[in-house]
Amino acid sequence: MKIIDGKKISNEVLDEIKVLVGHRVKNNLKIPHLAAVLVGDEGPSQTYVNSKIKACKRVGFQSSLFKFDKSISENKLINEIQKININDNIDGFIVQLPLPVKINQEKILNKVNPDKDVDGFHPLNYGKMALGIETFLPATPAGIIELIQRSNIDLKSKKCLVIGRSQIVGRPISILLSQNKIFGNATVTVAHSKSDNLKELCLDSDVIISAIGIPEFIKGEMIKTGSTIIDVGISRVNDNSSVKGYKIIGDVDFKSVSDKVGYITPVPGGVGPMTIAMLLKNTLKACSLKD
Ligand code: NAP
Repeated sequence: MKIIDGKKISNEVLDEIKVLVGHRVKNNLKIPHLAAVLVGDEGPSQTYVNSKIKACKRVGFQSSLFKFDKSISENKLINEIQKININDNIDGFIVQLPLPVKINQEKILNKVNPDKDVDGFHPLNYGKMALGIETFLPATPAGIIELIQRSNIDLKSKKCLVIGRSQIVGRPISILLSQNKIFGNATVTVAHSKSDNLKELCLDSDVIISAIGIPEFIKGEMIKTGSTIIDVGISRVNDNSSVKGYKIIGDVDFKSVSDKVGYITPVPGGVGPMTIAMLLKNTLKACSLKD
């Protein structure tokens, strides 16, 4: 079993970004600036935003946090987004999801200036991604691709099963891995909660990318010997022995697959750190496109 160390690989990516920021400073070019819009402070959203801001500091980016009360109206939030859209100092921004249920998420994401849409969720960028046109790739799928490439895993003609079809992970990674690109050319199957033959699909796959959100769902008996598993799942499970009172568990039962798996991403320390690194990479790109 080989561990794909997302922490190490993400640090490599962040170091590369830091070097490029250093070059920009030397050449009197603009320092990239990432902003985050956070509505309310429930769940892990604040933690995610804090990690993004911390990563900005690490690479020498500017960062801003626009924090709003969960009672903010949809119109007021759109107004605030429009202000960020025209703020020349901000190169890219994200709207931290999920938003409160009374706010229409799709409507909000449609208001983000596509040139600053470093999450790649605007329909224009999403459409470009689906068409294979250069754009901001959504950060988690981009991070998965980076992990696979930097681990020298060739997906060409491999049977790849993506479990989950969400707009932020499952759908885009399934599109990207099937494309005729250097990182793609896999034969991709997408499974979801209505798939009734999941075990057979898993056993028939060279690569499994699991983005479900059910702790330890994938067991050793479900996988083929030597297969690669990318575990995207993040579930918080109560753990009285930890200071935080919880621990993070992936979709894969690590112990039970460890005898059979070829490559695997751990949770935590796999896909998670890559997502932030790729967000910063997109921000650098957004800034550089304005040079
Ligand atoms: P999501 O929107 O809830 O989608 C979950 C997907 O899993 C859905 O397509 C659902 O099918 C499918 N599913 C649920 N139960 C299933 C089952 N028993 N068998 C097969 N498929 C099943 O979640 P998401 O936003 O994609 O996130 C998935 C997981 O990844 C979560 O744990 C999330 O926290 C994590 N995540 C991690 C990162 C990271 O940076 N590491 C980033 C984003 C998300 P239906 O479509 O039929 O409902």
